[in-house]
Amino acid sequence: MSCKANASIKCTVTQCAYHCADENYCTLDAIRVGTHEANPTECQCTDCESFVKKQ
Ligand code: SF4
Repeated sequence: MSCKANASIKCTVTQCAYHCADENYCTLDAIRVGTHEANPTECQCTDCESFVKKQ
C-alpha cells in the first residue's frame, strides 16, 4: 500500500486527491460532511466537504 489509508473512513471517490488509490479509503485523519439541501432527507443529500479534485 503506497498511501496512508484511514480505516475509519471508507470512500470510493477515486477522483478525490485524498482518496487512497490502492484501497477504498480516505487518507485524511478526519473529514467534514455537510449538505447542499435545506432539508436533507436521504443519503444523496449529503456531501463530503473535504473533497478536493485530483489534478
Ligand atoms: S476527502 Fe472525502 S471524498 Fe475525498 S477521499 Fe476523503 S472521504 Fe473521500
